[in-house]
Amino acid sequence: MEEEQKSMGTLEAIMAAGVVGAGGAGFPTHIKLKAKADTFIVNAVECEPLIGADKFCCREDSDRIVKGTLAVAKLIGAKHLVIALKRTYTAEIEALQKAVDQAKAPIEIFQTEPFYPAGDEQTLVYCVTQRSIPEGGLPLDVGAVVDNVGTVLNIARAMEGKAVTHKRLSVIGEVEKPLMLEVPIGTNILDCIRPAKPKDQEYAVILGGPMMGRIITDPKAMAKEVVTKTLGNLFVLPKDHALIRHHEIPIERVQKKAMAACIQCRMCTDLCPRFLIGHRMEPHRIMRNAFKEKMLEDDAMYLKAFGEAANCCDCGVCEMFSCPMGLSPKRMNQYFKGKLREKHLALEKNKDPKAKATIDERRVPTQRLISRLGLSVYSGQHLSALMTIEPANVRIPLRMHIGAPAQKIVAVGDKLHCGDLIAKMGGKVSANIHSSIDGTVTAADKDLIEIERGAIQ
Ligand code: SF4
Ligand code: SF4
Repeated sequence: MEEEQKSMGTLEAIMAAGVVGAGGAGFPTHIKLKAKADTFIVNAVECEPLIGADKFCCREDSDRIVKGTLAVAKLIGAKHLVIALKRTYTAEIEALQKAVDQAKAPIEIFQTEPFYPAGDEQTLVYCVTQRSIPEGGLPLDVGAVVDNVGTVLNIARAMEGKAVTHKRLSVIGEVEKPLMLEVPIGTNILDCIRPAKPKDQEYAVILGGPMMGRIITDPKAMAKEVVTKTLGNLFVLPKDHALIRHHEIPIERVQKKAMAACIQCRMCTDLCPRFLIGHRMEPHRIMRNAFKEKMLEDDAMYLKAFGEAANCCDCGVCEMFSCPMGLSPKRMNQYFKGKLREKHLALEKNKDPKAKATIDERRVPTQRLISRLGLSVYSGQHLSALMTIEPANVRIPLRMHIGAPAQKIVAVGDKLHCGDLIAKMGGKVSANIHSSIDGTVTAADKDLIEIERGAIQ
């Protein structure tokens, strides 16, 4: 596999290695990089509060990140190359600058202010280029391609003939020993959490960051979750932490509170990152209209009242920081987004949004956000050493990316080496998947392949 991959062109090697967006929804990278753009931005901002995997990569793998950046620039024809991260990441900036200087690479280290969500793709593109992406659009619409730093690292590895088999992730929060891990894809998340020693027997875990991650409170559900190509953090919290309780409020109550308690102060709108880059997104209006939902007679009125909800990026600033009444414009937007999909309704997109003049003053400082979230107690958690885990078995999902699931090409009893192809791209938009350990296939269906660790001749 490695030798074969090394002799390929860069794009073919990226496709063969199964590289997908490591920091988001997992868009297949070989498709994204068929584009041509003048600017390539490596997103190393890691804006979710307190998480640390991307920062670790910047410190420890700066040479490879520079190599991957240059390779992508060549593919897409970019002349303006940027690695973006917060100005407070001093060790990471130093490591990357050194690697850039050594390679004499024409790469700008772009420093954002420490605000949330500086790493949101649309916000970041505005910070770097001063251009607002159209509503529902892509960075490419303003001449840019953005990849997460973990993706760029996987691109550099693909050029060395290495498939995506392992994932780096941090385990932080209510644990005795915060960890920086490198684990085979398909490792159960409990195998990652256990060595970090949770302080409580009963805990909740957020898969991802505290603002946009997925919360799991049921231990049986945790036992089914595995590390995927896109998971970068596990945040362990007490089950009764305010952040966890907030997300457990049923939508009916969220809606009732919105109708009863919204004072129309506009703070949710004034600090909304989508509103600030010029998209039609005024959450205070959605809150004001919430009571009308059942009274609206036709689709045109529904669209006028709630159509903007589709422009919400779920960043959570409105509910976790802005609202003085503890309301949840984000949850209301999610509710209305669902309704708009059901009704097949969509506003015409604004193709030429203009950022608000206040955009630079209305940033949410990360430290204040951490305090507002009740997470300051975890601020000092330091992740310097990398620990590896070798689980007895892995369960590898065949859908870790946007698009069609990969199609299995192995059967129960097959003997595999780490890096062997186990599922091929299942369509034009899809990605290859490889074994993440040496061992024997113990289960295989259209959704999942299970491999038991064992020496292979
Ligand atoms: S979650 Fe709130 S702040 Fe974020 S984009 Fe949506 S409405 Fe705006
Ligand atoms: S911030 Fe809260 S109270 Fe103010 S308009 Fe928005 S939802 Fe209403």
